[in-house]
Amino acid sequence: MRFLDEFADPVLARRMIEQIKATATRTWTLMEVCGGQTHSIIRNGVDTLLAGAVEFIHGPGCPVCVTPLEMIDRSLEIASRPDVVFCSFGDMLRVPGSGRDLFHVRADGGDVRVVYSPLDAVRIAADNPAKQVVFFGVGFETTAPANAMAVVAARERGLRNFSMLVSHVRVPPAITAVMRSPRCRVEGFLAAGHVCTVMGTAEYGPLVERFGVPIVVTGFEPLDLLAGVRQSVELLEAGAPALRNAYPRAVAAEGNPVAQRVLADVFEVCDRKWRGIGEIPASGWRLSGEWADFDAGRRFAVDDLEVRESPDCRAGEVLQGLLKPHHCPAFGSRCTPRSPLGATMVSSEGACAAYYAFRRLEVPSGA
Ligand code: SF4
Repeated sequence: MRFLDEFADPVLARRMIEQIKATATRTWTLMEVCGGQTHSIIRNGVDTLLAGAVEFIHGPGCPVCVTPLEMIDRSLEIASRPDVVFCSFGDMLRVPGSGRDLFHVRADGGDVRVVYSPLDAVRIAADNPAKQVVFFGVGFETTAPANAMAVVAARERGLRNFSMLVSHVRVPPAITAVMRSPRCRVEGFLAAGHVCTVMGTAEYGPLVERFGVPIVVTGFEPLDLLAGVRQSVELLEAGAPALRNAYPRAVAAEGNPVAQRVLADVFEVCDRKWRGIGEIPASGWRLSGEWADFDAGRRFAVDDLEVRESPDCRAGEVLQGLLKPHHCPAFGSRCTPRSPLGATMVSSEGACAAYYAFRRLEVPSGA
């Protein structure tokens, strides 16, 4: 197969669904870690088609959703300053902070710009030497290398007015946190294919051994997902947890060594708080000492923020697979994409947004 629509072939998909259902002797609970996979599963009805064989538990793999509230509030504070041009990917602008979002800051006169690459922010810094240009660097292992390269590019160009507000997160510690939860029901993981294109698969073998669950690296198209599910169910039925790569067209075991070198140079591992979940040891990246002069958190001392999460939002449970989005009492009524209470309702990878876009007609009245 060479083209993307071939990975949505309905005849092949039906055959794979029948195979999975014939293999499963009971309902297995699988967590897809990545929000992109969540959207594909819900959009294509994969969960409905596999009902009885697999229950999908949606994981914490939406980078926008897990960016801690403190960091959102810090971004709002920095973006409000008159000498600052604040650059971000579009998803972050609607994410609610303690009282407002970046759109509000822009409406109040802040220079908040949507960029499509961190290098756009570097260019804006070169074009505006009298301004401080700050890029909001969020995301998993997938986006971190490009953001690291932007810092390298800024140094090479001698830019002293560019900095980055870094809130990067790493997948393997999140899997550990999910498995350690006393309420964990996960029996197998679909690992995010794009993360593994960068990092490879080496970090996942020890998790399989430690927790005794299969981990299958999986892509995003319907047949990619079904291939990952089929391998997971086969491993579970055999009682033989193992690491498998069901996305070989994109993922090599060693990942992308060039990207890994840039990451190791520019960032260092740190503990990180995840929105709605709490602190997870060694789950984040920050700029390493040699690059600390590009750290917007240092350049703009923003302390003593009083953060206030919506008391009605249960996104933390959604992100840990403990609550389905449409079972949240605020879903679709007090919380919609136009008026979100939590980041999971506005992010393009958020589980609540996926259910709102594709499943809200199934919400029982009164929910
Ligand atoms: S539906 Fe809204 S309020 Fe409920 S968990 Fe999702 S984002 Fe939070």
